[in-house]
Amino acid sequence: MRKALQRFCLHRKNSAANGLGLVLRPNVADRDVIRQVACLCILLSEFRKCQQRRHNRDNDGRALIAAAVFPTFTRTLQAFVCLLEFLAHPCCPLGSIPRLRPCNPNPFTAPAQSLGTTLLVVFRLKNLSYPCLIILWPSVDWDAMKALVVQKPGVVELVNIDDPVPGPGWVRVRVCAVGICMTDFEVIQGTIEARYPLIPGHEWCGIVDAVGSPSDQAWIGRKVTGDNEITCGECVYCRRSEWRRCPHYEQIGFETSGGYAEYLLVPTSNLHSLPEEVSFDQGAILEPLGVGLAVAKLAQTRPGLTAIILGAGPIGLNCLTALKASGAIRILCLDLRKFRLEFARSWGAAEVYTDPGELAAAAARLHPEGTDIVVDTTGDIEIVRAGIELTCFGGAFVPAGFCRHKSMEIEPDTIHLKNMRVLGAGCNSGFTGVAARCVAAGTLLTESMITHHYRLEEYSSALSRDTVAADGYIKGIFVP
Ligand SMILES: [Zn+2]
Ligand SMILES: [Zn+2]
Repeated sequence: MRKALQRFCLHRKNSAANGLGLVLRPNVADRDVIRQVACLCILLSEFRKCQQRRHNRDNDGRALIAAAVFPTFTRTLQAFVCLLEFLAHPCCPLGSIPRLRPCNPNPFTAPAQSLGTTLLVVFRLKNLSYPCLIILWPSVDWDAMKALVVQKPGVVELVNIDDPVPGPGWVRVRVCAVGICMTDFEVIQGTIEARYPLIPGHEWCGIVDAVGSPSDQAWIGRKVTGDNEITCGECVYCRRSEWRRCPHYEQIGFETSGGYAEYLLVPTSNLHSLPEEVSFDQGAILEPLGVGLAVAKLAQTRPGLTAIILGAGPIGLNCLTALKASGAIRILCLDLRKFRLEFARSWGAAEVYTDPGELAAAAARLHPEGTDIVVDTTGDIEIVRAGIELTCFGGAFVPAGFCRHKSMEIEPDTIHLKNMRVLGAGCNSGFTGVAARCVAAGTLLTESMITHHYRLEEYSSALSRDTVAADGYIKGIFVP
């Protein structure tokens, strides 16, 4: 009997009839939501077949979900919310039912405490309804979450660990999307400063599902991203907004647990609320957009200045969009990968090059008064050197790529005699909030750079340098 209960069961009534029923039972040992999704997918595909057979003409492709919920267990509801979001997500195999709309009570936003385990779901298409009963049985280890942990440099494991519990002034975020950043590769390899064992992931978006202080209750159910810097807020450096110098400075995804997990803890003061229209994917890549906006601000970009971006990866593209939005003109891009250059062109790069020599010749032709702003995102010493050369008198050179501790020789007079500004862009506190405002207002949208989605289970392929180097790859996202 126990064995039977531990298997997922599908009780489907006659699919040609008006009602479709499904009972899902999470396995006590294996709590992975994906199997439940598989069962639900079977149900939904049956529903679609049935719907198409009967109502070919009336099919407007919209499904409406009504959920009747009974207050018992909280975790099972969260699993169900995961299912709904997964179904609405672009990586869902049922991409053709994208517009599932939850209605009252809205399980996306209702406080988890007040909702429960048994859901009556009604799929409604114009005049016809297909009620579907989904029962998610609670099991003992629902309180453990999946997380990708870097145990020590070079050793990554997918583990089940206790759900984090927020302390006073903190919230718990259920992670819905988290960006895979090249900096995470450095964290995994141990070439950048981090504290191990560590859950990486500093580009995250999700929904607040628990708070540590009763006064923060209003955050529950809200879609959020946030700043990663954790500081004391009281020392002389914090008062001067020089967060990185705070003696208590820590960064989410580097010194404290990041978003490569189902849940993440964040100080309430770091949160940025996002409107419903901003997708989880877009929300997850606000941090790198913040880097682009910080670069544009540091370089004092204004309308009419010319620019070059070295490297058309995610950071280069974010710099491109931010510089363009700030008024820079005739922006030239350099990258070795033609696919990325074509993408940069579609985002407004004037000319694109794979050869630094050709780029220099084009800059002389297209920027006759010199290039005002040069941004390096490659971290390649030779490219950095070329970038300094390309920067005009009084111009700004912005190193925004990680050089992996390599050193280079430089003739200081190059900088001195050109009155050049060299502006490090490695720490951009506060710009995620700026990015959130721009995206919420619809003035900057960067989601189209996302080319790949992965589950945490697919980490070995998602975190392989071969994957990232492949043609067609720009930005990957984990959907925990
Ligand atoms: Zn990053
Ligand atoms: Zn401080």
